[in-house]
Amino acid sequence: MSFQDLGLNPKLLKALVAAGYNTPTPIQSQAIPHVMQGRDVQGIAQTGTGKTAAFALPIIHRLLAQPKRMPPGACRVLVLSPTRELASQIDESFRNYAKFTDIRSTVMFGGVPKGRQARAIQMGIDIVVATPGRLIDHLQDRTIRLDLVEILVLDEADHMLDLGFIVPIRRIVTTIPKERQTLFFSATMPKEIGTLAGAMLKNPAQVAVTPVATTAERIEQRVILCETSRKRIVLFDLLKGEVSGRTLVFTRTKHGADRVVKHLSEAGLFAAAIHGNKSQGQREKALAEFKSGRCRVLVATDIAARGIDVDGVSHVINFDLPNVPETYVHRIGRTARAGADGVAISLCDHEERAFLRGIEKLIRAKIPEMQGSGQQAPRQRAA
Ligand code: AMP
Repeated sequence: MSFQDLGLNPKLLKALVAAGYNTPTPIQSQAIPHVMQGRDVQGIAQTGTGKTAAFALPIIHRLLAQPKRMPPGACRVLVLSPTRELASQIDESFRNYAKFTDIRSTVMFGGVPKGRQARAIQMGIDIVVATPGRLIDHLQDRTIRLDLVEILVLDEADHMLDLGFIVPIRRIVTTIPKERQTLFFSATMPKEIGTLAGAMLKNPAQVAVTPVATTAERIEQRVILCETSRKRIVLFDLLKGEVSGRTLVFTRTKHGADRVVKHLSEAGLFAAAIHGNKSQGQREKALAEFKSGRCRVLVATDIAARGIDVDGVSHVINFDLPNVPETYVHRIGRTARAGADGVAISLCDHEERAFLRGIEKLIRAKIPEMQGSGQQAPRQRAA
């Protein structure tokens, strides 16, 4: 699915191109259609999954569909965030996605003077991102009014609980119209948060993505730095050497998958490919051979792999690194089904270093480097 398929306003699509986003992350493809339709959403997702865009994009889309001018001190969208860092990031994201539109966003948090924040909403504004404490100060000062809020977002609700913000939030919510759209995001759903969500949401659509860090933690991960031209040799050596179990190899393209299978077959290693250009029959055959163990190496693209449910995959090899970090976690998660542990090895060439950095940021860990046979000593990695 692409951002165009989601039917987002062309001005947003332009901003996404400028931001270099090609594909929606899983939380985005799940949440955006519901938010665009005006439904309440309860989302389980952590920072790093792309959840900010999952709510910010469809919110801007909705505001653009029905332009309105706000009276002094009023806003159409209120986003509550537990920390000032997150509030700033969310505000920045809104500004970035709305940069080709007239939609305006501002942020308010404690620890800095209130005057500038009050002036920013003096003429009315579309979006306010705020931490609960400072928002209550502004409510008391009557520098902000929330009686025209159409959309309320609560981000990192579990973190709000940890910081003791549940009472302030309940108080804020009483000043917002009951007729509104509410989007509620939390990384986990402890009982208190479930209760809060129940009180705030009406018939919400539930969306969830795998808590990425926990999936990644259970899998032994390695990266081999090598040039693209050497990847086939490195892959073959791995499959002939330490990678002896049932192995799923991921490539970015269908042709890439075919080329890998051809190369392995020529070298005497039987492998099958599964991707969108294969007929249903071919796909079923490849999958059956993989499941039965007749063929221990299956080469797949991301889309094709989504439907594969095979237990006992011991190794995942990323022949190419994905450009969406979430995809990496979904790929390697194929080895860790039903509590089993697995090994994931990624081949990374020079051009893919940026993808590797994005992945390491997402899983909050550095992936140790391993030396592939068939290549010289590892080169120094940029920090
Ligand atoms: P978040 O979980 O909202 O904090 O986002 C994590 C990071 O992913 C941010 O740096 C975003 O700019 C980036 N990001 C969000 N969505 C996408 C996408 N569809 N493609 C590429 N990067 C994205």
